[in-house]
Amino acid sequence: MTQTDPRRRIPRTDALLADPVLAAAVTRHGADVVKAAVRVAQGRARTGEIEPGEVADAARAALPSRATTLRPLLNATGVVVHTNVGRAPLSAAAIEAVTAAAGYVDVEYDVATGARARRGRGTLAALGDAVPAAGGALVVNNGAAALVLATTALAAGREVLVSRGEMVEIGDGFRLPDLIESTGARLREVGTTNRTTVDDYAAAVGPDTGCILKVHPSNFRVEGFTSAASVEQLAGVTSPDGARVPLVVDIGSGLLRHDPLLPDEPDAASALAAGATVVTASGDKLLGGPQAGLVLGDSDTVERLRRHPLARALRVDKLTLAALEATLRGPVPPVTAYLHAEPDRLRSRAERLAEAVGGAVVQVEGRVGGGGAPGVPLPGWAVALPEQCAERLRTGDPGVVARVERGRCLVDLRCVPADSDGDIERAVLAALARGD
Ligand SMILES: *Cc1c(COP(=O)(O)O)cnc(C)c1O
Repeated sequence: MTQTDPRRRIPRTDALLADPVLAAAVTRHGADVVKAAVRVAQGRARTGEIEPGEVADAARAALPSRATTLRPLLNATGVVVHTNVGRAPLSAAAIEAVTAAAGYVDVEYDVATGARARRGRGTLAALGDAVPAAGGALVVNNGAAALVLATTALAAGREVLVSRGEMVEIGDGFRLPDLIESTGARLREVGTTNRTTVDDYAAAVGPDTGCILKVHPSNFRVEGFTSAASVEQLAGVTSPDGARVPLVVDIGSGLLRHDPLLPDEPDAASALAAGATVVTASGDKLLGGPQAGLVLGDSDTVERLRRHPLARALRVDKLTLAALEATLRGPVPPVTAYLHAEPDRLRSRAERLAEAVGGAVVQVEGRVGGGGAPGVPLPGWAVALPEQCAERLRTGDPGVVARVERGRCLVDLRCVPADSDGDIERAVLAALARGD
């Protein structure tokens, strides 16, 4: 290096860290992240890629825009509960609740007495108010955990009766039979793939029966010559000594009350009214809340589950409890709004987008998704773009996930918050401009 070598003029790290923007970034991102951005910028100056005077700017530009590597995405697929993009988006109320719960909170503490209090009592009360037929409620990590806990507490070392028509794989290799057998319960299959009657269950009941499990096959439909025993019928099945056999109903989707838009989707209130001992469900499907598993039902049975040692390993954190309570008590969550989106409104939004970007407006069918209501199409409208836009949209900022169908990229605004239509428009224009 000579005296005139421009590399001598590369600002030193301590000088760069005194830059107000970079100093503030240390508070936001931590010193390691900022120093890494500084090193990247200094390296670029060393190779002559940028001038020494540009190092501070380059370091600022190299800072991450977020505190997490998770990228926010706009869901333009028309699939409402899309597991790959995080299932249910939280309502503004739930987001506020998560932020409020992020510090120290009275999640398990009574400020009046200074003593320990029941964990998540506000959330459990909200569940009780939402489903009055449930004598007890419990929140665990997810729907699969709720099912594991129920079958472990009621049937470990004993038998769980399940219809052959309900031995399902829910998704991503999650097979119900494997899950249940992992709890130490033995699976006893009854009936056939297409038809199972209440007598099939009654004939299989013995001294070793722990519970009957009825599972909603949420991601497929069997059509034709089919029948299944109803919750009402199963609730009447008794063991040889005349006692009721506990009935666990896994409804999956987390619909708490019947929704006429989804006529075949089971809901917690109806299943309990029909005699289910406990219902298990997900928090982040049709309920529209955070990832969680709900157990609702007979208070003694729920208490038995709560006291089981496994419950401690499945318990949820304060953030989940906060988001779930706000979802239950708060405004209509995005999932519900997107499911019930007015086709006419979707059409006018699509027309406005097409006018701005120059695509064609086409009629499409959205989906509930997330292993729910497979047969229910959601009529809507989308803007059709050249297929190659899909990848450019996904990798843009903000990322937009559209649907590719028959050689077209379809941008469906059903699951896009209306105040983000402008972001979609800019993203599409940028994607169309990237003609590489
Ligand atoms: C989705 C689903 C589950 C699993 O719930 P997670 O919350 O994803 O663990 C279990 N049973 C049924 C019927 C489902 O639809």
